[in-house]
Amino acid sequence: MKIIDLHSHSTASDGTLSPAELVAAAQAAGVDVLALTDHDSTAGLAEAMQAAQSHLCLIRGVEISVRWQGRTLHVVGLGIDPDQPDLQAGLASQQALREKRATEIAQRLEKLGVEHALQEARALAGESQLTRTHFARLLVDKDHCKDMKQAFKRYLGAGKPAHVGAEWVAMETAIEWIHCAGGVAVLAHPLLYNMTAAWRGRMLAAFRAAGGEATEVCCGGSNAEQVQLSAREALQHGLLGSAGSDFHQPEQRWIRLGRLAAIPAGVTPVWEHPRLTALLH
Ligand code: AMP
Ligand code: MN
Ligand code: MN
Ligand code: MN
Repeated sequence: MKIIDLHSHSTASDGTLSPAELVAAAQAAGVDVLALTDHDSTAGLAEAMQAAQSHLCLIRGVEISVRWQGRTLHVVGLGIDPDQPDLQAGLASQQALREKRATEIAQRLEKLGVEHALQEARALAGESQLTRTHFARLLVDKDHCKDMKQAFKRYLGAGKPAHVGAEWVAMETAIEWIHCAGGVAVLAHPLLYNMTAAWRGRMLAAFRAAGGEATEVCCGGSNAEQVQLSAREALQHGLLGSAGSDFHQPEQRWIRLGRLAAIPAGVTPVWEHPRLTALLH
């Protein structure tokens, strides 16, 4: 049995390991197939491919923030060509939204007494675009919060004082970008959107109707019950099942690279999609 992990982050977005370090960590964890899926960015893929070589099979991916019914969802693209022009133009516009949103988040944080929020978040992000995770790390570093969870709960989460919405791309358009770039579209962590089962059903139906191929069934930290629920919902909506840890940093000890439940029988794994089987080695 191959160990397959199709959702992870590097310093090209809000992970703490460089793409090469991430690949080395995955290899050390016995991962055979890894997808690097940074938020709205493919900047880490070249380095990851270089590091992977024959050690493991690196699937080129991206996690796109999208808008659907006034909510923010995440759509993972797997097996993409990062140089495809429509995808690149789309990601550039997402990055511009991130830049504008980061300035506004920083202004709000400054008003709440967090000094030099923008400069310091930039320093934490290095070359990467800014995400809320960088602001959360900053709030912890400066002792405004005890951990990242509290930073989202008090400041950065929906409805909190430093929360700023963004007009992310429509879900349907993001799926088109992924398809233009030759990839397969996967709905990320369907149980993490704070939705009722009825809303989740609508979301999965809309995702399928827009051409999405798969939904994550096994996520880092999901328990057996959650895996069974997501598997049932994948089957109901005619979607393939994916497995991804959503690894960001080694310090989050409860989420390890490649440590995922098996996809329940009956659900077809997304890596059996012809566009992905062609990439596996
Ligand atoms: P953004 O895409 O900039 O809005 O940032 C979203 C990222 O913030 C997610 O991908 C997670 O990595 C992180 N995040 C969201 N909520 C939490 C939370 N409650 N605790 C820790 N990290 C979170
Ligand atoms: Mn993240
Ligand atoms: Mn996500
Ligand atoms: Mn993610």
